[in-house]
Amino acid sequence: MADRLDAVIAGGGPVGLTLAMAAAQTGARVQVLESRARGAGFDDARNLALSRGSWLRLERLGIVDALTTATPIRTVHVSQRAQAGRTVLDARDLGTDALGYTVAYGDLVQALDARACSLGLVRYGSMAESLESTPDGPIVTAAGERIAASAAFIADGGGPLPQALGLESTTKSYGTNALVARVTPERAHRNVAYERFTPQGPLALLPSGDAFVVVWTLPPTLAALLATVDDADFLSRLQAAFGWRAGRFVTVDSRAEYPLQLRTASMAARGPVALVGNAAQTLHPVAGQGLNLGLRDAWAAATALAASRGDLFDGEAYARARRTDRERTIRFTDGLAELFTMDAPGLPLMRTAMLTMLDGFAPARRRFGRALSLGQL
Ligand SMILES: Cc1cc2nc3c(=O)[nH]c(=O)nc-3n(C[C@H](O)[C@H](O)[C@H](O)COP(=O)(O)OP(=O)(O)OC[C@H]3O[C@@H](n4cnc5c(N)ncnc54)[C@H](O)[C@@H]3O)c2cc1C
Repeated sequence: MADRLDAVIAGGGPVGLTLAMAAAQTGARVQVLESRARGAGFDDARNLALSRGSWLRLERLGIVDALTTATPIRTVHVSQRAQAGRTVLDARDLGTDALGYTVAYGDLVQALDARACSLGLVRYGSMAESLESTPDGPIVTAAGERIAASAAFIADGGGPLPQALGLESTTKSYGTNALVARVTPERAHRNVAYERFTPQGPLALLPSGDAFVVVWTLPPTLAALLATVDDADFLSRLQAAFGWRAGRFVTVDSRAEYPLQLRTASMAARGPVALVGNAAQTLHPVAGQGLNLGLRDAWAAATALAASRGDLFDGEAYARARRTDRERTIRFTDGLAELFTMDAPGLPLMRTAMLTMLDGFAPARRRFGRALSLGQL
């Protein structure tokens, strides 16, 4: 079909936009459909820890110069509140200057958008309403228009589109919410990120500019309360939960709540239709892996699309290629979320033993750091 695109992408979040640009770099004709208006995502203050692997991918797309607020993470400090055992991962141990970078979701989307729009890849205010499979390839309908392509990628963050093709998902709720806030510390953070396991749940502090972004996993009622208490009350409760390792917290703003779940699609593709990013798997943020895994999906999808140019996209080959990475990352993140949220006798001691062992055995620590920073778990 002469007017058939190489790919249509439903969803212009960070994964859909990355896929579009990576595919366009190989010469593919692609179109992203994004339901929201242009700029609607630019205010999302959620902070994302990007692995070094993700950073290198964005560099290849020419995006990183626009990420002026990105902050390098040079050290990761993992510990338990009121229990022994801790481990420290340092970029110097791996011979690099950063284990990863933090960047606000809105800033990342804005940088990707500027580039993707300059290439004419995105149609805003364009909701992909339905998806059908024909012998000539998938057809996506948006605002009454039918768009034919050799491949369709669903990058909608986890909407209902895949169900029409029988691609089902399973959902497990963690029964907790992530409370996100931006706090300024009295003393400079020196590019250290903290992951602290507290009796209420994991609490991460990520360096962002001269502040920390807090990602605090809490029971929903407590998260709702802490989202609304006055600033002084919030800061004193945060200080009590985290302790003084990062100094005194002075101000707080940008509090927001996110319910936490693990959503996994049983299959990442059917025929020439494939799922990428959160549409394929939505993870607990404890290990900062969701977007990093989604960017690896996007990269693999663009590579597979280039390999099938001229023919219908082989979604099942893409799904097979992604299987091990997806399964490992889902298992790792879910295991960590459970291990550090569960409250059972003996668990604190087990966590102490794990952290102490990791800290005392440099090769294991380096391997763990390399896996996290390059996204090869
Ligand atoms: C509190 C929190 C902290 C996190 N921290 C990290 C971290 O440190 N590191 C990390 O790697 N990940 C992190 N994540 C996960 C990360 O935010 C997601 O993995 C990432 O946003 C997924 O990107 P996406 O493009 O797949 O989906 P989304 O970001 O959800 O984007 C989907 C897009 O599709 C559009 N859309 C939806 N339906 C349609 C439709 N029918 N037609 C057209 N467009 C549509 C939406 O408007 C949206 O723009 C965190 C998540 C949370 C909640």
